[in-house]
Amino acid sequence: MVQNSPMRTHRAGELGADDAGSRVTVAGWVQRRRDHGGVEFFDLRDASGLIQVVVDPEEHPSVHDLRMEFCVRVTGEVRRRPEGTENPELPTGDVEIGAADIEILAPSKTLPFMLDDRRDVDEMVRLKHRYLDLRRPRMAANLRARSKATAAIRRTLDGEGFLEVETPTLVNSTPEGARDMLVPSRLQQGEFYALPQSPQLFKQLLMISGVERYFQIARCYRDEDSRADRQLEFTQLDLEGAFWAEDDVLDTIETVLAEVVRDLRGIEIATPFQRLTWRDAMNRFGTDKPDLRFAMEITDLSDVFADTGFGVFSSALEDDGTVKAINAGPQEWPRSRADAITDRAKELGAKGLVWVVVEEDGAVRSPVAKFFSDTETKGLIEQLDAGPGDVILIAADKWRTVVDVLGGLRLDLGRPQGHAELAFLWVVDFPLFEEDEDGEITFSHHPFTSPASIDQMRDDPENAISRAYDVVLNGVELGSGSIRIHDPDVQRQVFEILGIDEETAERRFGWFLEALQYGTPPHGGFAFGIDRLVMVLQNEPSIREVIPFPKTQSGQDPMTGAPTWVEPIQLRELGVELGAEAKLRKEASPSPEPADTQTD
Ligand code: ASP
Repeated sequence: MVQNSPMRTHRAGELGADDAGSRVTVAGWVQRRRDHGGVEFFDLRDASGLIQVVVDPEEHPSVHDLRMEFCVRVTGEVRRRPEGTENPELPTGDVEIGAADIEILAPSKTLPFMLDDRRDVDEMVRLKHRYLDLRRPRMAANLRARSKATAAIRRTLDGEGFLEVETPTLVNSTPEGARDMLVPSRLQQGEFYALPQSPQLFKQLLMISGVERYFQIARCYRDEDSRADRQLEFTQLDLEGAFWAEDDVLDTIETVLAEVVRDLRGIEIATPFQRLTWRDAMNRFGTDKPDLRFAMEITDLSDVFADTGFGVFSSALEDDGTVKAINAGPQEWPRSRADAITDRAKELGAKGLVWVVVEEDGAVRSPVAKFFSDTETKGLIEQLDAGPGDVILIAADKWRTVVDVLGGLRLDLGRPQGHAELAFLWVVDFPLFEEDEDGEITFSHHPFTSPASIDQMRDDPENAISRAYDVVLNGVELGSGSIRIHDPDVQRQVFEILGIDEETAERRFGWFLEALQYGTPPHGGFAFGIDRLVMVLQNEPSIREVIPFPKTQSGQDPMTGAPTWVEPIQLRELGVELGAEAKLRKEASPSPEPADTQTD
């Protein structure tokens, strides 16, 4: 145990009835002052909690100088609170300190916002004074939770024989599907380092090095748009094991997650987690990260409407598409709401949306009901297990559009608020490749992921399955991993399918292809976002609430002003010149204030 320094004898939050009668010195911040007719009270807060201090202003007139968040030291006697004035809500609520001496260690300016948790404060203001924001109980609890989470991860993996290894942050590009953050080299002018999108290739090298079990709490950098669950830099638990197949990875991650949940939530989660194939997840929930806390599953209606005379459905089916629906349950369904949900479906990519309300007598109300035969109406109600009052939403289009639209509506209409319940699952058997925005073939996970079958990859790359898996919690993708390619020849074939010609592969990854040729053990691994996990477990709506010093949506830090212009000499030393547009921006705003006020 760390001894208390002479500066103080006790931590405020640890005082209790046993200390009554002893003389103590505590130090911390003035939280709440109240004047009770001739007697002054304030709460003194340190990292451990609060203690009530009682002051006789006649003896200590300086108490009138105390303001919110002054940093003070108080010496006095611990005494039991008079009967009836105890505060059972407070761990130290049975006692108080009768102040004999109050010393102001440091005054505080007037606060830009109140630090209690009951008030909503604009996030830009909070970020500008993050050091004060972190004094708020909720934020202090988030910091503690995060520290507990990383402690649990380290303890568990150390117990399982993992080695914690640091890998560099000035590296060559590691393709994870995002844009690289670049750092110009001063010593090799014109050349750039990339900050790691993940330690992927280094952890694979460590497998070649004979480290059979590796982990790292790794900072990763991806230059993509920030969102509630994205930041330019984030932290993940990165791990890898040699002589591993899927179950080794999944078991290890489940063990780690169960330990973190136990420490943060005090509950046992059931393992093994449910597993869904990617295709099932898409078909049933319309997403590769299903929120399993509620049902409202997508149901296929292609059979029910196989011979339909309703043109919208029949043409979708003829066009190799599909007809699917969700039962949104009982809903208030005035015209305005029907229109709003239809507009939302269009936003999600639909051309239109068919809605059907089941009436008391089993009949249906819908603008298109007249086009359905009796058998179709009956089949529809049966397939969706619909009862009176239920609203059924039907989409007909190409498969991908239909599942995307219904998956989006399902979340809008059914997703619980907050994260009181925890629903973990694995999504497995992801496609090996996908199409990018330009219709080009690209990797789904990363290009080092092993195909499930090399033959299938060669013969039918569009439908090839990979050995990649994701872990999902309450509809949040916590992390991904895969069994890797350990045969250099297969690695070359994957590059070829991805359109990376031999010369480019050699230039970008030659060093890695070389390493793969020295007896690489079969291996696989995983990474999950610590920010996202702590966000869910702390019931927070955004990862910014659990990142000590996050950035805004446009990648700015309202407190330090980063990013900033640098001195011309610094650019010269780097051999870097600003482009015309950047120069104009600089002229217009030589010392840029954080431009955005938006955080999402
Ligand atoms: N490198 C991957 C990522 O950061 C994780 C993995 O495949 O282990 O998502």
